[in-house]
Amino acid sequence: MKLKGSLTKSNQGNTVKKYNYLFGPVPSRRFGRSLGVDLTPYKTCSFDCVFCQLGRTTVKTTKRKEYIPVHEVIEELGDWLESSGEADYISLAGSGEPTLHSRFGEVIEFVRNTSDIPVVLLTNGSLLKYADVRAAASKANIVKVSLSAGNQALFETINRPAANIALDILVEGLQHFRKEFAGELWLEVFVIWGINSTPKDLSRISELAATFKPDRIQLNTAVRPPAEGFVHPVPKEQLEQFVDVFTPNAEIIAEFSSNAIPSATANEDTILAMLQRRPCTATEISDVLGLHINEVSKYVGKLERTNQIHAAAGESTPYYTAP
Ligand code: SF4
Repeated sequence: MKLKGSLTKSNQGNTVKKYNYLFGPVPSRRFGRSLGVDLTPYKTCSFDCVFCQLGRTTVKTTKRKEYIPVHEVIEELGDWLESSGEADYISLAGSGEPTLHSRFGEVIEFVRNTSDIPVVLLTNGSLLKYADVRAAASKANIVKVSLSAGNQALFETINRPAANIALDILVEGLQHFRKEFAGELWLEVFVIWGINSTPKDLSRISELAATFKPDRIQLNTAVRPPAEGFVHPVPKEQLEQFVDVFTPNAEIIAEFSSNAIPSATANEDTILAMLQRRPCTATEISDVLGLHINEVSKYVGKLERTNQIHAAAGESTPYYTAP
């Protein structure tokens, strides 16, 4: 635990607390063990990406408001930091676009003032055109944005944005943000077989990226079940050919690896809460909860039999999802 200030750790034994807005720590391909903070109702987003692992967007909007009471999120975070507080990162991510929450900056500020755990903001970048959103986002240690299209037509095909979002304005917002943000700016490029997977597609994205100079660039593809069935992963060998199209060179996001959290206690509720936020394989559940794979199989089997979770085909191994 990495607490600052007056909060103290209390021993909660093996009790797994239930939170409304926190989930995990869950395995993350980019951030190891990451405690997720969910600031929007399920699939409330300014995009409806064809590759989204959460399924189709149910509320597509650019309306910023206090979707959930910020004081309740802060209370939960304070409690989590006191009672367990073990994670590599705290990520504003989850069920939708976190910058739609009008007070997301206060959540970041609370964590920064209370803990040493770095805060990551995962955003599609669509609202960084607004100065107040940039100011709030600047409080994070790392901001990870995404850009997977080099022109408006592909942007609309892949990200299916809300009506008032244009790619050139989004990129302008990223350029402004880069100038104002002292932390690390990461870029994720999602490559879809046959849609944005030609060298020309990647070169154009690279040209746009060069205008806002991300510190790290990561290539991802559809290894988890996507929102649309026509989205297929690009083979690793092909992704490797795109690495040096970018400056700095892109990295292919490595498979998740993480040490178990010995103090974490798994039960069906914990697994269910993880799977409601993101699909995981049995191995990932085992890694993050420190459970033997046979024990994971037992819980997963029961949740599947009772229709609380479903297995979906991944690239090589099934991913479990909770509707
Ligand atoms: S991938 Fe992110 S930006 Fe795209 S629809 Fe899903 S939550 Fe929204």
